[in-house]
Amino acid sequence: MEKKSLQNIGEYTNSVKIFVKQKAQLPIDVQLFLAFGVKEPRPGEIGAEVGQILSGVLEAHQTKAIVSLGEREKINLFALRNAGASISMWLNQFHKTTSILHISSIENLNDPDMLGALFEGLFLGSYTFSKRKTGGRKAKEINIYLDTSLEAQKVQSILEHARILTEAVNLARDWAHEPANIINPVSLSEWVQVLAQKNGLHCKIFDETALSEMQAGGILSVGQGSKTLPRLIVLEYPGTPPTQMTKPVVLVGKAITFDTGGYSLKDTTNIQNMKYDKSGGIVVAAVLQAAATLQIKKPVVGIIAAAENMISPQAYRPDDIITTLSGKTIEIISTDAEGRLVLADALTYAQQNYTPEAIIDLATLTGGVVVALGRLRAGLMSNSDTLASALTVSGDRTAERLWRLPLDDEYFHQIEGDDADLRNSGGREASSIIGGMFLKQFVADQIPWAHIDIAGVAASDKPSPLGPKGATGFGVRLLTDFLERI
Ligand SMILES: [Zn+2]
Repeated sequence: MEKKSLQNIGEYTNSVKIFVKQKAQLPIDVQLFLAFGVKEPRPGEIGAEVGQILSGVLEAHQTKAIVSLGEREKINLFALRNAGASISMWLNQFHKTTSILHISSIENLNDPDMLGALFEGLFLGSYTFSKRKTGGRKAKEINIYLDTSLEAQKVQSILEHARILTEAVNLARDWAHEPANIINPVSLSEWVQVLAQKNGLHCKIFDETALSEMQAGGILSVGQGSKTLPRLIVLEYPGTPPTQMTKPVVLVGKAITFDTGGYSLKDTTNIQNMKYDKSGGIVVAAVLQAAATLQIKKPVVGIIAAAENMISPQAYRPDDIITTLSGKTIEIISTDAEGRLVLADALTYAQQNYTPEAIIDLATLTGGVVVALGRLRAGLMSNSDTLASALTVSGDRTAERLWRLPLDDEYFHQIEGDDADLRNSGGREASSIIGGMFLKQFVADQIPWAHIDIAGVAASDKPSPLGPKGATGFGVRLLTDFLERI
């Protein structure tokens, strides 16, 4: 495939356009108003359910729509973000392409964070993955003109921030949706290269030969059963103003482009949607794009461990003993506990090549985290209380919420190897914690490190307040917020 066509494949353009104080193109389809709702609405009043929309026809085919922000006392970032998303979902559903959004009446919107959350919702709500349907993208362009008494320049900069951030989220959603016959470790590395070029990021790609030379036995073993061999992809953002990459924050992402489970094969139900097993790595690429476009101060490194976990005569087996990049040996109990093997090498690479201020890894690692926390919160494990609490705060602000799980030393006995240093699975008990405990063995104690298990939140089988079913891009807003605030 030629470079040029790859560029087209990997591109993402937002279908929502928002304008500040520009003359609206006529005709206007909708006049949108925001209002606080009441618990028991009388006729003509709006209810307290956030995002509920009351509409009626004005003169000349123009619609008037009132959008509920919920109860006045409960207004927060969540409510505004969700209200914004329901506005663009509604506009999309009823093919309303040109609207005016009146925001002056809501004084809470003087707060930049609150206004930003509303904009984020507007950009996120209209997302659809339709480019693989005949006829291309179905989502029509939606133009929203803001009627506001706030200073235009200030609104413009808040708007721009929300646009950049959500474009990264929607890019992550788009790439995660692409199935394994389109995104494999090799094509992913090419897409990331294009993303790096566009955003002025430095990109290094280690192919199977380079990985063999460096003896990265974790990622190589997992990926050796696939026709498309593994890639370790490294993105560097030097910070603003640019630094010599001294003390970067290193983000590490698991990108298993498809996970069959290998010889520890998944059953027919659980093998579905395994294209989403690359979500962590894709989110890392999207955060690097956001960091560069937003010109975040901190230098950031993104390391994406990409492999496809398949069955073939070359595939690795249970009982195999592999040697990771760190030199530690691992006995394979389950070929389906592959994420931690690719991450082990990526974590070692991070420490061999940088002096990280912190390392944060993001991975759809365990089914256990879904049992523990469901589909609302991601599991957080960390060796640093300071890092864990900073991430938790960002999670609360962005509604990409985290819940910390313990990493007591005693859990180690579950992964102590019989014939090697470690075993890659400790059975069903505390399986998310064991995943974290395993990764902890590959990070020096003095480096603040956090592991975020996104297996329950990376994709959803039903629509959420912020978008349709499918990939959520969970982690892009969380990590960008974290990077902006440290
Ligand atoms: Zn697996």
